[in-house]
Amino acid sequence: MDAVTQTIDAVAGLLAEGGAVVLSGAGLSTESGIPDYRGPSGVARRHTPMTFQAFTQDPVARRRYWARSHLGWRTIARAAPNDGHAAVARLQRGGLVDAVITQNVDGLHTAAGSTPVVELHGSLDAVVCLDCGDRITREELDRRLRDANPGFSAAVSAVNPDGDVDLPDAQVSRFRPVDCAGCHTGMLKPDVVFFGETVPPARVAMCFDLVRRARALLVLGSSLTVMSGRRFVIRAAKQGIPVAIVNQGPTRGDGYATVRVDAPLGVVLPELADRLAPRASLAAPRADAAVTRG
Ligand SMILES: [Zn+2]
Repeated sequence: MDAVTQTIDAVAGLLAEGGAVVLSGAGLSTESGIPDYRGPSGVARRHTPMTFQAFTQDPVARRRYWARSHLGWRTIARAAPNDGHAAVARLQRGGLVDAVITQNVDGLHTAAGSTPVVELHGSLDAVVCLDCGDRITREELDRRLRDANPGFSAAVSAVNPDGDVDLPDAQVSRFRPVDCAGCHTGMLKPDVVFFGETVPPARVAMCFDLVRRARALLVLGSSLTVMSGRRFVIRAAKQGIPVAIVNQGPTRGDGYATVRVDAPLGVVLPELADRLAPRASLAAPRADAAVTRG
């Protein structure tokens, strides 16, 4: 028996009694074709993360964000859940996992049928006005941005056939962001937590409560770089709740882990679901699955 099989056995042992809570990160969505977005900002890792301060105070930075995001939304909107998301949903239906806390903003857990899901850093599928508080769907904003920027996507796609959203300044300067349609002047922002912003306290409290009641904490595809997620691992370890981490490469939570699996999630998770929840159906994802954004 090789080392990976042994560690998968150990994770299966931790999950077998049920009542686990999942904490997932960007690594779970890379197999869905979503670049390794760096958590809160939704901006690809090699770019400097957008901060809340820059977004709200620097019109040039805001324009650049929306120009990239307008193109990046194509990737998010067409992404489908992968085998890892599906396996988590099976573990949940099988009673092995009680809840999912995700650092991802792509909505793919819910699309795979998981419920409940707490989206720690919000979701890219909603947009909020910072002045009047009006909320709209990303689809609605997408229509307005297309109307305000005819031909933009096509022109830039020709420059970046791989969907890369690293835009030249000349392209960015042509882009026209839009303001809130409700109050006409309000600044729109995706309903995600940027760097320099804090996660709403009620949402954090909900997550700590889930962790406190968990029989085990299963970390999936997160390097636990930011404290926003790592704090739940630290809390679990302090309370004597076993922590299992499945991630390719080291994480900043390894020192708290009861067991570590360094292998692809698309392999490990279906294996766990096959062993622990063989009869959990692969039912069609629920369109009405509740998403909790306390
Ligand atoms: Zn408004």
